[in-house]
Formats: sequence, C-alpha cells, structure tokens
Amino acid sequence: MPIYEFKCKNCGHEFEIIMRASASKEDVTCPKCQTKNPDRLMSSFSAGSASSGSGFSAASSCGSSAFS
Ligand SMILES: [Zn+2]
Repeated sequence: MPIYEFKCKNCGHEFEIIMRASASKEDVTCPKCQTKNPDRLMSSFSAGSASSGSGFSAASSCGSSAFS
C-alpha cells in the first residue's frame, strides 16, 4: 500500500500515513493536534514542479528547461 506524507495546516507537523486508495485525505487527522484535512506532500512523484493546475498529468517529467 502506498505511503502518503502529510503536513498539518495547524501545527506544521509532518507525518506519514499508509492509506488505502478508497480513503480520502479528509479522514486524515494530525497525530499531534488532531486537526483534520492536512496538506498532502507528494513524495513519490515530482513535487512542486508542475503547479499549473490545469489538470493535465505531467508525463514528461524530464524537464526541458534551459535547453535552447
Ligand atoms: Zn497538527
């Protein structure tokens, strides 16, 4: 099962949770302060680079930046 990393919006605590695919992150609770719905940290995927938010899956992860 995949391990997801979360960061609590309230206290900033980062933790890992093994989640089933059917589980939603709204059910995740911070183990420190019990705040629900933490931010998800994408560890196994390319994090932060594709932030256009237009819903396309970044298939070309090998960046073509600075290639002119
Ligand atoms: Zn917390």
